[in-house]
Amino acid sequence: MNEMKVTEHIARSDKALFSFELLPPLKGQDFSAIQNTIDPLIEFNPAFINITYHQQEVVYDTLANGLMKKRIVRKRPGTVGISAAIKYRYGIPVVPHIICGGFTREETENALIDLNFLGIKNLLVVRGDPPVGMKTLVPEPEGNAHAVDLVKQIEQLNQGHYLEKEIKNYRSTDFCIGVGGYPEKHSESPNLESDLHFLKRKVEAGADYIVTQMFFDNQKYFDFVKNCRAKGIDVPIIPGLKPITTQNQMISLPQTFHVDLPEALVKEILKCKDNHDVREVGVEWAIQQSKELLKFGVPGLHFYTMGKTDNIRKIAKGIL
Ligand SMILES: Cc1cc2nc3c(=O)[nH]c(=O)nc-3n(C[C@H](O)[C@H](O)[C@H](O)COP(=O)(O)OP(=O)(O)OC[C@H]3O[C@@H](n4cnc5c(N)ncnc54)[C@H](O)[C@@H]3O)c2cc1C
Repeated sequence: MNEMKVTEHIARSDKALFSFELLPPLKGQDFSAIQNTIDPLIEFNPAFINITYHQQEVVYDTLANGLMKKRIVRKRPGTVGISAAIKYRYGIPVVPHIICGGFTREETENALIDLNFLGIKNLLVVRGDPPVGMKTLVPEPEGNAHAVDLVKQIEQLNQGHYLEKEIKNYRSTDFCIGVGGYPEKHSESPNLESDLHFLKRKVEAGADYIVTQMFFDNQKYFDFVKNCRAKGIDVPIIPGLKPITTQNQMISLPQTFHVDLPEALVKEILKCKDNHDVREVGVEWAIQQSKELLKFGVPGLHFYTMGKTDNIRKIAKGIL
């Protein structure tokens, strides 16, 4: 099955693409968890489905003698397997996420070789967040430190340059590379200008398109696109949207993702009796955001599902 690249899809389509991201289920679940997430959205013809990557976490077990023992666990494994299963069972292009954190360059190369054997053409390349409990991401020795380094490695493979220089009769890969962009700047960035500078370096290194971090005020996206274009970043910029689902997210989303919630949205959330009502507010807000973005002429609308899609279905019904 020859898969279309995200950028080819955008170029050939006369309307904005609909796509969504899902998380591999927690260890112990089977593929039905994935089907339950995807099936309600199939009728809206998703152009592609992203599958996030979760690096290992450190947990501490208390031993009988009271001492703590460190244990490494990956709670959501399966990004590559799930990507292949979706691609071949549903016939929809998939976009597995590839991260720097936890991988040496050799391990990354091997993962890319696996993905290439599976006929997967699209990747979303991000650095990865620091593991829970850590403030900064420490790259593996011989690993990539920033997304730009990972983009460069994939671009090298796209040109047939493997880490072992003596490989003969090589076949090059042909990955289409997406990267993350932050309309409200990345949390570790000293300012927007610096963040745009590094975003441009990712594009110069070979990124073909950008997917944005979530935002709740479209003006942030419009300004971001304007600033990117002024800097010479001319690849498609797909807005990423996350419908609000709980009252708690008024605190957790700004804390975790460094994004602002507009006052009008906050007022609506505060009026809600419970999280069921908040979910409805989130749907309505995302529909309004999407309609305005479609008018602006975005290349696609990309939804963060966090594993549940009843709300994304309502949004899709409201806009597609
Ligand atoms: C669309 C999208 C999907 C995501 N999917 C996942 C996922 O599946 N799994 C996951 O763990 N996380 C995911 N994330 C979160 C992401 O890993 C974090 O936001 C991470 O903290 C930064 O990733 P990045 O690729 O933007 O990093 P980078 O581009 O490396 O940037 C990180 C910070 O370093 C700065 N910087 C960049 N390059 C350099 C350099 N060469 N020197 C100095 N500073 C530099 C940037 O300005 C920024 O502040 C996703 C984010 C987005 C937007």
